[in-house]
Formats: sequence, structure tokens, C-alpha cells
Amino acid sequence: MQFLVTGAAGFLGSALANRLAREGNSVRGLDDLSTGDPSILAPSVNFTRGDINDRPKLWTLLQGVDCVYHLAARVLVPESILYPREYDKVNVGGTVALMEAMHDVGVRRVVFISSGAIYGDQSRQPVSEEAIPQPRSPYAVSKLAAEYYVRTIGRLWGIETVCLRVFNAYGPGQALPPVHPPVIPNFLRQAAQEGTLVVHGDGNQTRDYVHLDDVLNAMSAASTAAGVNDRVINVGSGLETSVRELIRHVREITGKNPEVVYNPRNDKGPARLCADLKLAKELLGYSPAVSLEVGLRNTFEMDPRLQAREINEK
Ligand code: NAD
Repeated sequence: MQFLVTGAAGFLGSALANRLAREGNSVRGLDDLSTGDPSILAPSVNFTRGDINDRPKLWTLLQGVDCVYHLAARVLVPESILYPREYDKVNVGGTVALMEAMHDVGVRRVVFISSGAIYGDQSRQPVSEEAIPQPRSPYAVSKLAAEYYVRTIGRLWGIETVCLRVFNAYGPGQALPPVHPPVIPNFLRQAAQEGTLVVHGDGNQTRDYVHLDDVLNAMSAASTAAGVNDRVINVGSGLETSVRELIRHVREITGKNPEVVYNPRNDKGPARLCADLKLAKELLGYSPAVSLEVGLRNTFEMDPRLQAREINEK
């Protein structure tokens, strides 16, 4: 098949593009490199630098494409609180631009990578796709708005759509920005270097951490599965892990005993979040296979940045 992956130089996009290419597909990648790094792409991925709102570029890249994986996005929750218009422009406007271009060119299917962040606070856990979203940040609003655009435009213009609500994905190669780095690579690196682990909250908040390999399996199934048109599907591990438990794993894997500082007033996220996977099992045959222990060890061992000697930020 011929694929276009947007956000192809990012953490999930690069792993997906490389996997699709390895499987013998023809793969084009688009990324503006605002945070991504194209050097991690296999030479067989045909990479173009460009903005998701650049419609002429989209038209060219979409010629002959069977399925688009749409991952290009601004992804930092705290940044979205400072710059909501930027998040709207890229995550919402860029998605609409892509849908318009797909319609013009006649592309059959789009798999949109949405986020478990759209759920916010939910009293019932694990959370199913039927829960009423309670987004807590402009990032979460932008992913939810983009979902609605994808599905509505898809229905009106006859494009098949699948929205995957990915929970907290982790694995080797995850972006480590100097400000607000994601919790797993940050804790592994800090612990390995005997730095301090700073927890936003009391550490009892739970998340659903899902390994890259499981996310890739779900994404792969979504491009060809039947009966998924217009569906929104959770992708997680189905397990709830508190930050305190995560720290126990990090200690074990790194063999270090770092200091932990709790900042209860800095906690801006929901108290609990865990994916109900019933629909993913039914529609995608999805069943997460990587346990947190194995996934964390794999992340630590496969990602040389996590063992680097210097800590650049506190
Ligand atoms: P990432 O930041 O590594 O990847 C996003 C990519 O999009 C980057 O390479 C960036 O350069 C590119 N990009 C940003 N703005 C662009 C623009 N205007 N035009 C073209 N490209 C642009 O993040 P990721 O973790 O790989 O996330 C990929 C997708 O998955 C995002 O849509 C994100 O919302 C979604 N998602 C990620 C997670 C997770 O835990 N990693 C969870 C849920 C959803």
C-alpha cells in the first residue's frame, strides 16, 4: 500500500513510517521539523519537510496514497496553555487542511491519532469511548475538535476515518524537550544520573502507560480493518499505574535510588486515567502485549540518551 505519515519525524510517526516501510509498503513522510528529527527515518521513507497547513504540498504528497496516518501536531500540554492559538492552527486547522486535500485528491482512509487527554476527569475507570469528554487543556480541546472535524468531514465527503485515542505512549526515541519532558524518559534519565525526580502532584495520580510496540500494532490494524469507519477507539495498556508505582519500577530498572520531590500544587492533570480496551479488541483485534516492566527496561536499554552523563535541565 501507499501511505502518507504526517508528523513522520516525531516519536510515534517515525517508528510507524519505519515499520510500514519495513513491511514493504511505499511510505511518504511529512514533518515541519519544529521538533522532529528526520535522521531517524529509514532511507526507504520518502521524506518531505513541510507544514501541515501547506495545501499545495499536501496535494502533491497525497497523489496515489491509499491511507494517511495523521500525527503532525503540537503536543505539549503546558505549552498549549500559553499558546492556544498556535495549537488551534496546527492541530485543528492543519487537520481540516489535510481533510480538504484528501477529498480533492480522492484518498480513501485517514487514521487520526487522537489522545486519551480528551477525557480529562472521569469518575468511571477504565474510561470507555462513550464517556463525555472533559478536556482540561487547549491541547486536549484541539485533539477533540480535530476528531469531530475528521469524522464530520469524512461522513459528508465519503472519506473513511478512524480516530485512535492513544493514552500515555512511551518507548525508545520519545522526544525529550528541555522544558516539560514526558515523565517516563525524564525519570529514567534523571534516575540513571542520580538527579532528582520531580513529581507534579502527590504521586497517587494514575495513568495508562502504553508501549510504542503496542501502539504501532493498533495503528497498523487501523489502516485495513473492516467495520471501523467513523469509529473512535481507545489505545492503551488497560492498566492503571500511579506515579509512585512508576518510580518503584524506575528504581529497579536503573538500580539507583534517586531523591523524589512532590509538588502537589503543580498537578494540573486528572486524578485517574485508564483505557477501556473492549472496542479496540473487538474492532482491531488489539491486545497489548508489553508489560510496563518489560517496556520500561526496553526503553532504558534501547535509548542511549537516557544514560547520557550530563543532565541539561533540572
Ligand atoms: P512528537 O512531537 O514527537 O511528533 C509530532 C511531530 O509533528 C513532530 O515531529 C513535529 O515536528 C511535527 N509537527 C508539529 N507541527 C507541525 C506542522 N505544523 N506541520 C508538520 N509537522 C508538524 O509527538 P508524538 O508523541 O510522536 O505524537 C504524535 C501524535 O500522537 C500527535 O498527534 C499526538 O497528539 C498524538 N499522541 C501522542 C501520545 C504520546 O503519548 N506520545 C499520546 C496521545 C496522542
